Amino acid sequence: MTSARTSRVGVRALLAAGWTIVAQRPIDAVKPVQYRLVRIGPTWSMIAFRFFNSAIMDPWHTLNTELDAWSACGKAATLWWRDDDAVAPGPILDRLFAATETTGLLLAVIPANTGPTLASAVADAAHVVVAQHGYSHTNHAARGQGLGAWELGLHRAEQAVLDDLDAGRLRLEALFRDDFIPVIVPPWNRLDPALLAPIKARGFAGVSRFGPRAAGDHCADFATVNSHCDLIRWKTGATFKGEQKTINQLVEHLHARRNGTVDTSEPTGFLTHHIDMDEEGWLFSEQLVQCINRHPAAHWCDDVRSVFGINA
Ligand SMILES: [Zn+2]
Repeated sequence: MTSARTSRVGVRALLAAGWTIVAQRPIDAVKPVQYRLVRIGPTWSMIAFRFFNSAIMDPWHTLNTELDAWSACGKAATLWWRDDDAVAPGPILDRLFAATETTGLLLAVIPANTGPTLASAVADAAHVVVAQHGYSHTNHAARGQGLGAWELGLHRAEQAVLDDLDAGRLRLEALFRDDFIPVIVPPWNRLDPALLAPIKARGFAGVSRFGPRAAGDHCADFATVNSHCDLIRWKTGATFKGEQKTINQLVEHLHARRNGTVDTSEPTGFLTHHIDMDEEGWLFSEQLVQCINRHPAAHWCDDVRSVFGINA
């Protein structure tokens, strides 16, 4: 290892542990610059860590360093995988199933648009579990108001939304049988909080959106297990957002869990959309599987049912 590389690794380890190096130049400018270690809090440590990483480091090294920090404190960094918008089988879905063979997969299926051919493909893939992705992935919110797209909002009568969810669940239960778990994945990750109580009353076991779950979101009879890293940049057509930005999202959640600023027990969720992925995104995903499987402190939650507190 070169001395420059050794220095970079040292600085990263310090930042990961919540320390930084401060240079002090004496007023008379004759004596040499002095360096001292300063303890910084988890928030500043994360900001400095991200700045240092994006400026200098190989992003995969960034991820490995964060995982090394989990090793150092004897913790297991857990990840899980969710893929949205599934409707039909084909070579792209085959690639997804192959990529997730060792990781487990929650496949969020659009009930109104799917059918028996997808059910048959899922039945042949023991590591894949199906969740309900809304009903028909239709936006019911007015456009042009900056509120984004909503299927599970109160932009129409609450009963109409719940009727859709009931119909969607019946369809997925009939098609996917034991491969279906009663978990809602709201299209565009948006769910009006007022719908949570009737959703729970219907016997759904949980929900999965985006971002760290808040205190109280997750309890014994209703799970909230979100995704935290989306590898696609959506604004100008779906493209891979790049190794650096994707890994930063993963590391940000892992770092926050390790420091206790978010729910430590929520596994870090990797979100894909197999229909929209380009080759770079696939190569990244396949490399991520290897990276996590190789690291002794990290593992994929391959039993997706148990992630949501559901027994097989
Ligand atoms: Zn979707």
